[in-house]
Amino acid sequence: MKVPFMDVKSEHQPLRADLLKAWEEILDGAEFVGGARVERFERSFAEFCEVGHAIGVGNGTDALLLALEALGIRAGDEVILPANSFVATAEAVMHAGATPVFADIDPKTYTVDVNQIEAHVTSRTRALLPVHLYGQPADMTPILEIAARHGLRVIEDCAQAHGARYHGRRVGSIGDVACFSFYPAKNLGACGDGGAVVTNDSATAEKVRKLRDHGGLRKYAHDVVGYNSRLDAMQAAALDLKLKHLERRNAMRRQHASEYDRLLAGVDAIIRPFEPKGINGAYHLYVIRVENGNRGDLQKFLSEHDVQTGIHYPTPIHRTPAFSRFKAQHCPVTEKYSSEILSLPIHPELTGEQVEYVSLLIGKYVEAVTSELMAR
Ligand SMILES: *Cc1c(COP(=O)(O)O)cnc(C)c1O
Repeated sequence: MKVPFMDVKSEHQPLRADLLKAWEEILDGAEFVGGARVERFERSFAEFCEVGHAIGVGNGTDALLLALEALGIRAGDEVILPANSFVATAEAVMHAGATPVFADIDPKTYTVDVNQIEAHVTSRTRALLPVHLYGQPADMTPILEIAARHGLRVIEDCAQAHGARYHGRRVGSIGDVACFSFYPAKNLGACGDGGAVVTNDSATAEKVRKLRDHGGLRKYAHDVVGYNSRLDAMQAAALDLKLKHLERRNAMRRQHASEYDRLLAGVDAIIRPFEPKGINGAYHLYVIRVENGNRGDLQKFLSEHDVQTGIHYPTPIHRTPAFSRFKAQHCPVTEKYSSEILSLPIHPELTGEQVEYVSLLIGKYVEAVTSELMAR
């Protein structure tokens, strides 16, 4: 049985006719960048996130950059973020001219360790940038408390968590501002690049609107030095169609996750994801941990049996060449886990049989390793 890590092709099959119809209308209307389609999607996405404003932008990295700039983060400022994230989180901080300060992750949830944030706060700290990693919301209540205590802004990186809830609240509606990516592989993906900034604050929303389109709200009104980071109509139309299926598709991911949980429960050598009470994660990824240096071996074994897996992420951001100037920032949990984590397929197109097959293979592998150890 073949088990692909993702199946973006099949995802679009049932939407094909509707997508082509929408795209044909756009082609005929020639309103390609911004316009009514984009505004319609912005309204639906704001409503979905339970916030006042959503602003479509070019991609998730730009969403972060524009949000940071809209909050006034600039050169000399420090922003605290987790060392375990996609590199874009830190890139945006750098592009805003600010300095990333890497905090370690919680050993159980893999999101930023709220007990370590305050140790990193200095007189230069301006913002906290928690990431709802793998679709699981970071622990926002203590994060908001720390921010209030030190007068910091909070930016949520929601690129992997569209639709997740934290104690009933949608991610994206909790901090000062939040950023989404619509890269095709995300829980809500475009047919190309796309992103959004969401916020309840109308002043921040207006700043982002200006920044995304050359610094103004109207043609040739350049109030600030902005960017070209707009969402296009083709993507907005696709996103609007796909948004209607997001809740159902997230529920399918959760269903697969609970199947994995059940089937892997007896496999002691495998550490399953931990979802604290009150959290309703979006399961962008299902990440297990394999201790004792066996991750590579297990990945190879699964690959030999046609099961594709991933690693998110193989190198902590501060250990990548691009961020080598921060390599002295020690994050021991992130560093240890980067060689132990393995992402299993969890996309909605998976079948129950495939989840069972993957789990069975993992059980088999662990059994083989254990008996080999005992025979020694
Ligand atoms: C994907 C992702 C981004 C960047 O989004 P792009 O649309 O690829 O620019 C940022 N942060 C996290 C956590 C991501 O997973």
